[in-house]
Amino acid sequence: MTELSDVCYDDTPLIPGTDYRVHGPRPVPPVVTPPQTNCRQEPDSPPSDAIVLFDGGDLSEWKNVKGGEAAWKAENGCMEVVPKTGDIQSKKNFGDCQLHLEWAAPEEVKGKSQGRGNSGVFLMGLYEIQVLDCFENPTYPDGQTAAIYGQCPPLVNACRRPGEWQTYDILWEAPRFEGDKLQRPAYVTVLHNGIMVHHHKKLMGPTEHKKTTSYRPHPAEGPLQLQDHGDLVRYRNIWVRTHTGYDGGN
Ligand code: MG
Repeated sequence: MTELSDVCYDDTPLIPGTDYRVHGPRPVPPVVTPPQTNCRQEPDSPPSDAIVLFDGGDLSEWKNVKGGEAAWKAENGCMEVVPKTGDIQSKKNFGDCQLHLEWAAPEEVKGKSQGRGNSGVFLMGLYEIQVLDCFENPTYPDGQTAAIYGQCPPLVNACRRPGEWQTYDILWEAPRFEGDKLQRPAYVTVLHNGIMVHHHKKLMGPTEHKKTTSYRPHPAEGPLQLQDHGDLVRYRNIWVRTHTGYDGGN
């Protein structure tokens, strides 16, 4: 049985405003069994005003972060990480948005903690909502499935079994900058398999590994990025809506 102390860091800095270290021990989100609908069947169709980034066909909406074509595999209605080819990102850029995607960790369980079904969804290429197989797989809470990586664990662990399709529905409010100055931080709301795991949660800055973070100015829009962490994670049904109605908080 893996102890939490075996999979947490104890030599990282404190997360400002908390009693917890980055990737350190902290209360483990309780497990919630999500609805079992749609985890094996075909995905629903996107809404009519969605910008579809992957519909089960090709990777024409994607490119390799390091340059060139996206080298992940697209077959059988999904795309799959090809380890060591690197992260991929959307050719289109987004600011505030509603994002839907579906992912599945490998059915064959290999590795533990951060080494099992690891990938990630980076909003604007900078802010990671963790993708990980946390079905009976302890890891540091701020790095578990649907965590705002290195900042905030999800409210609950709503993981399905490895191999089953899982959904993320993400409402993203991009940070605002005035020149070099942060005018308003980013906020995110996340539903994992239909279960709320973050509600209008403030981000401290771009997500980082083993480090605290702070904002640095960047363009108002950025790409959606998916992580190659060496595991055979699959994705499908990826779409974005930009008609968010966000009025700058007024
Ligand atoms: Mg990751």
